[in-house]
Formats: sequence, C-alpha cells, structure tokens
Amino acid sequence: MPQATGRDAGMRHLLDRLLLGTPPGESPVTHVEELPERAGRPVEWPAWVPDVLRDRLVARGVSAPWAHQAEAAELARAGRSVVVATGTASGKSLAYQLPGLTALVDDERSRVLYVSPTKALAADQLRTLSSLVLPSVRPALFDGDTPRDERDWVRAHANWVLTNPDMLHRGILPGHARWAPFFRRLRYVVIDECHSYRGLFGSHVAQVLRRLQRVCAQYGSSPTFVLASATVSTPAESASRLIGRPVTAVTDDASPHGSTVFALWEPPLTALRGEHDAPVRRAAGAEAGRLLADLVVEGARTLAFVRSRRGAEFAALTAARHLTEAGLDQLVPRVAAYRAGYLPEERRVLEAALSSGELLGVAATNALELGLDISSLDAVVLAGYPGTLASLWQQAGRAGRSGAQALVVFVARDDPLDTYLVHHPAAVFGRPVEATVFDPENPYVLAPQLCCAAAELPIRPDEVGAFGDVAGVTAMLDELVRRGALRRRPAGWYWTRSERPEADIRGTGGGPVSVVDAETGTLVGTVDGAAAHTTVHDGAVYLHQGRTYVVEQFDLDAVVALVRADDPPWSTAARDVTDIAIVGARSSRRHGPVTVSFGTVDVTNQVVSYVRRRLGTGELIDETELELPARQLRTAAVWYSVPQPALDEIGLDQTLVPGAAHAAEHAAIGLLPLFAACDRWDIGGVSTALHPDTGEPTVFVYDGHPGGAGFAERGHDALAAWLAATREAIAACECPSGCPSCVQSPKCGNGNEPLDKAGAVNLLDLVLTHLAPPDAEADPPA
Ligand SMILES: [Zn+2]
Ligand SMILES: [Zn+2]
Repeated sequence: MPQATGRDAGMRHLLDRLLLGTPPGESPVTHVEELPERAGRPVEWPAWVPDVLRDRLVARGVSAPWAHQAEAAELARAGRSVVVATGTASGKSLAYQLPGLTALVDDERSRVLYVSPTKALAADQLRTLSSLVLPSVRPALFDGDTPRDERDWVRAHANWVLTNPDMLHRGILPGHARWAPFFRRLRYVVIDECHSYRGLFGSHVAQVLRRLQRVCAQYGSSPTFVLASATVSTPAESASRLIGRPVTAVTDDASPHGSTVFALWEPPLTALRGEHDAPVRRAAGAEAGRLLADLVVEGARTLAFVRSRRGAEFAALTAARHLTEAGLDQLVPRVAAYRAGYLPEERRVLEAALSSGELLGVAATNALELGLDISSLDAVVLAGYPGTLASLWQQAGRAGRSGAQALVVFVARDDPLDTYLVHHPAAVFGRPVEATVFDPENPYVLAPQLCCAAAELPIRPDEVGAFGDVAGVTAMLDELVRRGALRRRPAGWYWTRSERPEADIRGTGGGPVSVVDAETGTLVGTVDGAAAHTTVHDGAVYLHQGRTYVVEQFDLDAVVALVRADDPPWSTAARDVTDIAIVGARSSRRHGPVTVSFGTVDVTNQVVSYVRRRLGTGELIDETELELPARQLRTAAVWYSVPQPALDEIGLDQTLVPGAAHAAEHAAIGLLPLFAACDRWDIGGVSTALHPDTGEPTVFVYDGHPGGAGFAERGHDALAAWLAATREAIAACECPSGCPSCVQSPKCGNGNEPLDKAGAVNLLDLVLTHLAPPDAEADPPA
C-alpha cells in the first residue's frame, strides 16, 4: 500500500504508485493515454442578453460565456433549432438558458418548455432557475408528483415549465385544450440529455415530439428546439431524427479542461474456475475498491463508477478493508458508497462532502451520472464499460479540477466488449462516439402513437408526412382503420372511441409485469412483458435500482411477480430455447460464399429452466426446471450464412460448426453496443449449423423488442467493422478456450454450450475476408 504524498504529484506518478508491488511483466495496465490540457475560450455576452440576466449570471460566477454556449444561444435566438453536444461540465445549460430566460425577461407572457429524461434532473434545473431570482421568470415542475391543486396554477402562470416525456405524452398533450394559452406563446422547447432517448423509448419520444409540434401548430406557435446532448456521433442527424425537423449541431467544446492521464486496466486472471472450468478474472468491483483505497491514501478525491448498488457498496467495503489492513483506520470514514435513488437532497449532501474534501472516495452507481454536479475531482475509476462511449466520457469528464491534472482508470469487467476496449485503445480514444439509435417508424411505435395523435387532433391528410414516410404512415393509418381503432373521414383520420388510446412509451409491448413486495404489498417496480420470463421467473434474483430481491412467485395470469428483499450469495440465469424463422429479407447480399441479410424474423422463445451461480466465483450450484409458455416476437434481425463446403475448406467440419458459430454469436452480441448505443440485453442471437430457411450454417442477431429498435439495422450497416471488432475481442483474450471475457455469455440460454473459441476466430476470418474492408466507423443508417 503506497503512503500519502499529497495530490500535487503528477498523475503519471500517481498511476505508478497504484502499480507498486505488481510483479514485472504482470502490469494490469494495457495502455496509458495522455489527453492534453484544453484552454477555455470565453467570448462576449451576446448583445441581446438583458443586463439583469447577465448580472445574475456574473454574480453566480459565470463571468462570460464559452464560445460554444454563445454560438448555440445565437442560433436559438435566431429561431434555428440547435443541438449542443459537448463534454461533461461544459455548461450546456447556458446554451438554452440564455435565449429562454431572455425571452421571458423581455416578455413574461412568453413560454418555455423544458423536457428531461428524469424527474431528478428537472428538479435540479428548477433549483438553478429559481436561484437566479429573475423578476419575470416563473419556473415550475409539472410531472406525476405535481399536486392537483397546483396544476392549474402551473398551466396558467408558470412560464418555464419543466417536465418529462412521460408527462408530456400522458398528461400535457392529451389535455392540450387546457394548455391553450401556454402552447400559443411557446417560444422554446428544451430537450435535455437528448442522447438518452434511444431504442424503443427513443422511438416513442420522437413521435411524442412530433405530436407536440402538431399541437403547437394548432395554436399558432412554432417553437425553436434547443437540445443538449453528451458527445455522440452525428448529433445533428440524431437530433433531427428525434424532433423531425432540421437541427444545427454545435460540437466545438470551448470550456477549459486540465490534462488527463487515462489508463486502461485489465484485472489479471486468477486461479479460480468458473463455468466449464474457464479461468476467472479478479472482479472489476473488487479491483475498483482497491484502487479507491490507494487513491484515498494518496489524498486524491476519487469517484468510482460501478454498475449496481450492491457493487458500489462492495467496492466501498473493499476500499475500507484495504485501509484498515494498511493501518489507516482514520481514512475509513472518508470513503462512502453512494446509494442510487434519485433524491436531489441526497445528491446535494454527497456533492458538498466531496467538494469540501470531507469525503475523499465515493463508489457510486452509473445511475448517478445524469445531473450530478461534481466536476472537481482528481480521479475517476470506471469499473466496467458503462454501455456507451458517450457515458464513458461523461463519467471520465468528472475528473479534472481547473488547472490540475486528472487521472482516469477504466477497469475492464469480464465481458468481450471490455476486453476489446482495453486491448484496442483506438476504440476508446480514436473513435467518434456511437450514434444514438432509434426508429420512430417502428410499426409497434407508430400504431399507438398515431392513435394518440388522432385522439389529440384528427390527423389531416397533409400532416401524414410529419410522422414519417408518407406511404408507410398512410398504410399504417389504413390498417388502424381496418382494426377499428381509427375512422377515415374526408377531413382525415379520427379517434372515435370514448376511452383514451394506450401507449406505453417505456415498455416494449406485451404489457408490463408488476413486481410487488410480498411482505408489504408495495410496488417495487415493473418489468417489460417481453423481459419478464427471463428476469422475474420463480426463484429469480431480481435487481431493481441496485437493490436485490428474490422472486417468490411469478403469476402469469395476474401479471404480477411477488418478491422479497434478500441478498443471497448467488445469482440466477434463465435458460431458454430459441427458434428463429425468416419472414422476409429487406436486404440480402452475397460476398463470395458469405450471404449477409437484414430483415424481419419471428423469434420463438421459451424459458425452460434457471441456474444458480455462486457470486464471485461463478460456480454452478444447481439447475431448476420452469414451466413457462413459449412466446413469439416479430422483430428485425441481421444474419449471415456460409455454406458447409466453404467451412470444410477452413477446417470447420459439421461437428465444429455449432461451437464456432455459437461463440461468434455471443461475442458479436457483446460487441454490438460499440456501434449502436444499446445494452447487450436489448439484443439476442441464434446460431445454427443448418438453418431451415437458409439451408446453411447461419448466425442471427436480432432486436429484443417487437418491430425492432434499430440495433440490428445498425449492426447490418456496420457489419464489417462490427465483426472485425468481434474477432479481435476473441483473439485478444488470453484464456485457453473461452471465458466470460470473450465468448461466454451471462445470458446464454444454453449454458454456454457448445463454444469453440478458436473456431469462432476461424469462422470470422473467413467472413471478414469476403466482406469489404472495415471502415473505421460506418455511417449510421439513413
Ligand atoms: Zn477468454
Ligand atoms: Zn448461447
């Protein structure tokens, strides 16, 4: 354990101290990147900013705007919708506050609508706006928690209304008549953290925002949109797709940042054995805890990001144990776990304690990432890839006090994506962040959204194009007429039922399952119908916001899972049987012997059992059968097939193909999040040595949501680069024959059998030889 030296020593030196005692040749550090210091570029206040606003901002320490803030504000002021996509703590909010607040100071009858993905973030914004105490600005929250008797006041008097997409969808738009004065005077719509609208949720939000604009048009307004995003690839395209009209991007971050030493860290393999005798790596959470302790000893203010609440607590406990063992008990109280849960007051306490130095080390869940007001840390430790490069930079950006160096350590978890990243620094440092993927024209999104739109205002024929491709939307409207949901009249399409249409914008169809605490009867949360069989079956260990429960009973008829809070020393994984049938290929191309397709498939899935594994070691405890019905999912998939004779030529005979294809499928699923901002749980795969529809060995990767959410499509567009990365991830892992860091999957329905690591590399080499050479970054789908 290194001894205290103070945090002024260079960060290279600090990193060296973390490695003290590591035997030569066994350093877990696979790469160190030094990111140069960036000087801030302040500019003059725009001339139109009223004195009172400028004075309040200066009093709060904003002496002048950074160039990107002013540029975005000017565009918005000129009526051009703009997305500002810059790093953490670069002051994105000023970009919308300047034009928005100016509009309200100039004419208090103007209105601004602010939409954020979480209530907590909206509450933070409210606090900031209120603290400016501008005479004519009346901000107010309008969400599910707003008391009934306050709602009338908000509608009539608040001129900066803060809400979320759910409330917009369920409350504000359906009740637009009561908001008529608000919509009439709406000048700006702010969409904060807009990169979080992805997948099926993003697809719904895109349609909700189209509905919003239609309602505004009805009342004669055409608000300017200001969107704030983490750094993502092609922000203008994503934002335009989200709101359905052109958006200009501002991406040149002009805020200052200290230089950063960024280390990639792969925990070593241990003597422990996991499934199929695979070697087990030291856990990322334990490694993060140890690093946290060492950094605290060095006096470095450190935040460690861990995936779950339990993981965060474990990391903090590990850190405390190391400190005690080193005889530094006095430092133990200065390390804490931050419990997820989005209460702003709790966050404020943590922020204050870290800022004052009272706390030196905090282990937090990734959930803390949004809206956290901390940017003055010395070091950040990331235990595992947070899912997207955008999030990785968001978290890493917390380190770096003004003028001081910062240290960031990314600790790989044992999965193929993390393995790939620590062995391919260019994928972290030399690559644009991934595109935000969603598909507003997914039929499973479009149908309920069109019903909601028609219920708000009849859809006129000339408005059809606002919802997407005219032919596709018209066909869907006709289909809804056939189903009896809408009625066609000369003036357009009408919702004629008395009840309101249903659309669950956060769900995936199939109806949500309520998760209920069996002891207290309280609702713990809900699970998508589609995910319920694998996540809340009898006996499942279920995590919700970092808390652990065990499912006592999954009642299919009542759509309820009864759970009890518990913390057993094992995890569970469902095993399932999956069949896939091709409904139709939308695109199919031959590359030598390899056929690559993208299209519609029917996936039939049945959860048949679950296994219990000991935490930490992954050791298999037992397997229990389940009786659950098979379910069907019509969705989008990308697949490739190779005829057996071509595989025979490279030594993959019929007996070897199942293991090779299965291993290639697992790793490919693990790597897709590198190209599409998705979670590996959003997608599934099937590999088979002889698929009846292709007549060849085939590997499928499909969207886990009805109708598809754009992930498989993105995989298809970036196929060569994606499979090249998959091949690299497998080859880079030093295990002998497959482990969780390369080809084993925690969600394998088949118990990770059969898997052939070498065969997968062989198969992928063959496919890659015939595909076009991979681009560094393929273009996003048009
Ligand atoms: Zn491995
Ligand atoms: Zn599998």
